[in-house]
Amino acid sequence: VTIPATELERLEVLGHGNGGTVYKVQHKRTSKIYALKVVYGDGDQTVRRQVFREMDILRKTDSPYIVRCYETYEKPSGDVAILMEYMDAGTLDTLLRNKGTFTELELAHITRQILKGLSYLHAHKIIHRDLKPSNLLVNKKMEVKIADFGVSKMMTRTLEACNSYVGTCAYMSPERFDPDANGGNYDGFLGDIWSLGLTLMELYVGHFPFLPAGQRPDWATLMCAICFGDPPSLPPGASDEFRNFMECCLQKESSKRWTASQLLNHPFLIKHPSPASADN
Ligand code: ATP
Ligand code: MG
Repeated sequence: VTIPATELERLEVLGHGNGGTVYKVQHKRTSKIYALKVVYGDGDQTVRRQVFREMDILRKTDSPYIVRCYETYEKPSGDVAILMEYMDAGTLDTLLRNKGTFTELELAHITRQILKGLSYLHAHKIIHRDLKPSNLLVNKKMEVKIADFGVSKMMTRTLEACNSYVGTCAYMSPERFDPDANGGNYDGFLGDIWSLGLTLMELYVGHFPFLPAGQRPDWATLMCAICFGDPPSLPPGASDEFRNFMECCLQKESSKRWTASQLLNHPFLIKHPSPASADN
């Protein structure tokens, strides 16, 4: 089934990203609700390149853990849009700010879904490169899906080094800043695992791990902390399994990090099996 753009009614703005706007829309004929990401033609060329890359990746993915794309539109004016499934509980970032931090049990459920999404992507040679709470969408069933593939990379032919400064720097792994630090064998996929670790730690402690709560330092300070400091660790009170899981993600040397499929069998997730109702 194709959904012509003329059959969509814009209901409200869901959010603004860098360069694009996401609307909640209704398909007039079926009354179904969707999310429509629009990038205007007069915008920045980098942003336009990103939306085409995102369209390309979303069209190739088919997983319950990746936000679904139903249509893409291109107007002669240059406007580009992506019709996606609507996630009615927002992002993990808004959830953190509205309801507060997550328990280990909640995080295990969230983590399992993100890892299934990442292992799907990595098996298809796609590196997300911008994993963070605001790019993880949630619905009221507490299904978590990976979104926002604007700076992702499809590793076609060889494993080319992808050390360009794209993505949100704060969640970037140490090797993204200095690809030679690991003897130059940066493979990219494990950068997503680092970002996952920081994301989960933020959801557990309530603020970005490298910074004390509420602090907004300059970029150089943050980069120094990421590259030269110890990886952040969980506060007292966290279980041994969760602490160890975090250590498997937040190894500064990427070759020591576990892969997404290895982490799916980590004791932290074994300890908190998926709820019987949802087969997650
Ligand atoms: P950034 O540019 O740093 O990635 P962002 O993640 O906020 O910022 P977008 O990915 O463009 O930018 O999305 C903007 C906002 O729109 C999101 O934060 C989210 O609140 C909302 N949003 C995006 N996609 C959907 C969706 N499929 N369902 C519901 N809300 C969505
Ligand atoms: Mg985003």
